[in-house]
Amino acid sequence: MAGMKDTLALWKALAGRPEILLVRPSLVWFLNRYLGKFRVRNVGGRLILHSHLPPVNSPAYGRFIREHLRRRSDGPTHAQVGLSPLCPQKCVYCYNRGRKGRPMDTESILRVVRELKEMGVIWMGWTGGEPLLNRDIVRITESAAQDCAVKLFTTGCGLTKDLARDLARAGLFSVSVSLDDWREREHDRSRGRKGAYREALKAIELFLGVDGLHVGVSSVLSRSGIRRGETEELLAFLESLGVHEAWISEAKPSLPSFWSEDYVIAEDDRLRLVRLQDAYNKRDGLTVNYLGHFEGREYFGCNAGHKMVYVDAFGDVSPCVFTPMSLGNIRQRPLAEIVREMKSLFPSEESCFMNRNYKLLADVSGGRIPLSPEKARALLRKVGFGPRARFMRLYYSR
Ligand code: SF4
Repeated sequence: MAGMKDTLALWKALAGRPEILLVRPSLVWFLNRYLGKFRVRNVGGRLILHSHLPPVNSPAYGRFIREHLRRRSDGPTHAQVGLSPLCPQKCVYCYNRGRKGRPMDTESILRVVRELKEMGVIWMGWTGGEPLLNRDIVRITESAAQDCAVKLFTTGCGLTKDLARDLARAGLFSVSVSLDDWREREHDRSRGRKGAYREALKAIELFLGVDGLHVGVSSVLSRSGIRRGETEELLAFLESLGVHEAWISEAKPSLPSFWSEDYVIAEDDRLRLVRLQDAYNKRDGLTVNYLGHFEGREYFGCNAGHKMVYVDAFGDVSPCVFTPMSLGNIRQRPLAEIVREMKSLFPSEESCFMNRNYKLLADVSGGRIPLSPEKARALLRKVGFGPRARFMRLYYSR
């Protein structure tokens, strides 16, 4: 019954947005079909389909309709920001390998947040290193959350009950705690830290104790694990924890030790995860949010550098967290200028830029990542971009 009530609330929230009437009908139809794949969840009054989208009754969703669907703003919709370069873990697939420099201070981060919002960003993810190690995280969250959906990606290290509550009060709408495996030893191994598993479980418990917070787990899946059917076991375990969402993604070839066909998933693997997601989301309980579904050719595709941007903890700007290249640093060039250039280089395409181009990256980088802006431009001159995904084709059609 609660499900029916929430669905009615969803349609009421969507119908209550008159600005949607001015959006092209093909986009509205497409989005409704996409949204229909997820059950709506009412978390403290916020209507959430999954945590890669702002709640549909939030100011951030209103901005999405006005600035992107109606006015087709040139700017990005999604951004990840590194709040701290420090991290207690040493993940085997860490996407920050080789990134270094002078960490951004709080004032710089606040400026980045403000400028990203001015460009059109409606969803921001805090990442790191470990973002909880930034002592100003509550203040930074408050500065972003008024008209932007803010999500936290964390190992759980450094979390206290008070901090979890303060983050929710500051406007954080969703959190994903990293947990890759239901077996303690396996998780600690992939995270390079003994005790990582217990820290993650403790953090999940603390977050679940906070009213109005959407709580999920983010899990990085290996190709071999997907093929052995381990995702099914992992999801069953996550459901038993009582979290709202499993945010799953395969390990990306973002660093030299993953530049091999043995690690990169094939289309069949992606489709297997899409089917698993769809099966889960038809029933009550855990929502499964597979990034390869959102970023698949049937929906939004790869928007690295186009509608997605990553500002790492040192101020280097990249197309997404998984693309080990910098197109400039905010200390040397205005962020808006870097983002504009990046968009001109990344036209958006139907499949993952990294999965398609890691061999080229290996050639151009000689194993030294992240690429400097000069090397990134040299790489991009050699890349052939494929067609856009369904949504982006509709978005740009005249
Ligand atoms: S390259 Fe594109 S599809 Fe791949 S992880 Fe980055 S944004 Fe997603």
